[in-house]
Amino acid sequence: MRVAVLGAGTMGHGIAQVTAMAGHDVTVRDIETEYVENGLESIEANLEGGIERDKVTREEADAALERLSGTTDLADAVEGADLVIEAVPEDIDLKTGTLEDVEALVDDETIVATNTSSLSITEIASVAERDGRVIGLHFFNPVHIMGLVEIVVAEQTDDDTVQFAHEFVDNIGKTPVEVTDSPGFASSRLGVALGVEAIRMVQEGVADPRDVDAAMELGYNHPMGPIELGDVVGLDVRLDILEYLREELGERFRPPQALKRKVRAGKLGKKTGEGFYVWEDGEIVGVSGEYEGDDGEDGDDRGGAN
Ligand code: NAD
Repeated sequence: MRVAVLGAGTMGHGIAQVTAMAGHDVTVRDIETEYVENGLESIEANLEGGIERDKVTREEADAALERLSGTTDLADAVEGADLVIEAVPEDIDLKTGTLEDVEALVDDETIVATNTSSLSITEIASVAERDGRVIGLHFFNPVHIMGLVEIVVAEQTDDDTVQFAHEFVDNIGKTPVEVTDSPGFASSRLGVALGVEAIRMVQEGVADPRDVDAAMELGYNHPMGPIELGDVVGLDVRLDILEYLREELGERFRPPQALKRKVRAGKLGKKTGEGFYVWEDGEIVGVSGEYEGDDGEDGDDRGGAN
């Protein structure tokens, strides 16, 4: 199969990599040669890492790289493609504009997928001539490691497109979850619901961040607690999603004051060195001042284990 991936950034290069590894011919398109090259270099680096960890053989990596090419020319990228996956920045006008440009270049059978993490697939599909071919394929970062792909079915998506998406996701070795197009799909809506309640509990003094996280990690086998995950994702990103979900789904997603205060203070989590936790060199070294509990020693032990 021929697949075009639009956008060679964080998600685009990962999608291109797993698709080429599954035996498909992939062309990655970005707007500048430099971005295309960076994307292809990231794939090579990932594959080298895979070889070092015995996850990929040299032959598999070389064969995947043979099947990959890059371009800045949209027409070249989508020519003869059975599937086009766009992973351009999260902007509705850019997404709809890209879909219109793609449709003008491909034939009627080509499936067009969007990797949007929050926008309405139904709204994106509304600009398409043949809207039944449009579907959401929501990959997770880092794509070569995360097993899930949400298949997001728009109001217009036809059954053949849904079936195609399932076969494709199975074929690239990921696990599909089918979701009707709705705000936050399945993953973000549930993940954010847990995250927001965790912040409310910290705000109310029910438990400090370490204990809330430990409850979920040790009691529910979550690999990472919801407060730590918020810090890793970025509290600004969390706040944006919450505001969107509140607008679409109601007050249960109202952002807590504690979260707004952190964002206003520029304490965005791991990337700025402080959120609900204090971070150094990508590791938790303490709890942010106002939420430090009395049982700091237990907490320090857990931090060391992370
Ligand atoms: P990114 O900024 O890393 O990459 C986007 C790339 O698209 C950039 O290289 C940019 O130059 C390129 N681009 C811009 N306009 C283009 C065009 N017209 N044609 C081709 N390329 C174009 O962004 P990202 O994190 O890879 O996100 C891409 C999409 O994936 C967004 O919709 C985002 O919401 C979604 N997503 C992101 C994550 C994540 O964790 N980063 C997870 C799931 C989904």
